[in-house]
Amino acid sequence: MDNPYIELAPNFYTIPGERGWPQQFSSHSYIFVGEEKTVLVDPGCITHKVALADTFRKLGKDPDLIIVTHEHWDHMTAADYFPHAEKACSKFAIDAINRKDNERVRHEQRGISYTSKFDRALEDGEVIDLGNFKLEVLLTPGHTAGSLCLYESTRNCLVTGDTMFKPPMLSGIFGGGSRKEHIRSLERLFKLSHEKAVQTIYPGHDDFITRAPLCLDALEETLERAREDLAESV
Ligand SMILES: [Zn+2]
Repeated sequence: MDNPYIELAPNFYTIPGERGWPQQFSSHSYIFVGEEKTVLVDPGCITHKVALADTFRKLGKDPDLIIVTHEHWDHMTAADYFPHAEKACSKFAIDAINRKDNERVRHEQRGISYTSKFDRALEDGEVIDLGNFKLEVLLTPGHTAGSLCLYESTRNCLVTGDTMFKPPMLSGIFGGGSRKEHIRSLERLFKLSHEKAVQTIYPGHDDFITRAPLCLDALEETLERAREDLAESV
């Protein structure tokens, strides 16, 4: 079969997410093959099983560290296929995942179960240094309480989970999250995108934001809609 993954840059890959609702639905996965460690960001839903297995077999690697951007089932349940990998996320996401909190993880209504436990709480500003990649953790609550993004400085890109999408798509707000916090998180991401002239934004679903500096106006319009959404809800 064709490769189930796409090479985004040397040693940086994605496995595209599926859109079959609800059982065949998964986030995109991102893979950073570092000099000594391989990091898998958002393994996705269990429907990613074959694609994940084929990808890591073809790469000749196994993930050493799994990071999930937040506690939703479509981003994290496939962590079950990597029992030996260290599993990391924000401390709010750890709490929801390890308690199998269905209000937060939303797995039960999809008929999906999982067994993975997460144990490494990532701190805001922490940098995971892979030598050829440097992943900086940004805690960005809002879409959920436990959401985070990663800023990768060598390629000047962001991995944003469900916090920021290609405009005009605006993130929903789910159990534990809030639009007010989401706006604050978006403002932080926009500031960083301006300051660093971030080149590409890799969200958890749908299209990437390429040539991101040219999209900042459209991104700001999304932020404006988020503010309107908040104003209407109070
Ligand atoms: Zn989500």
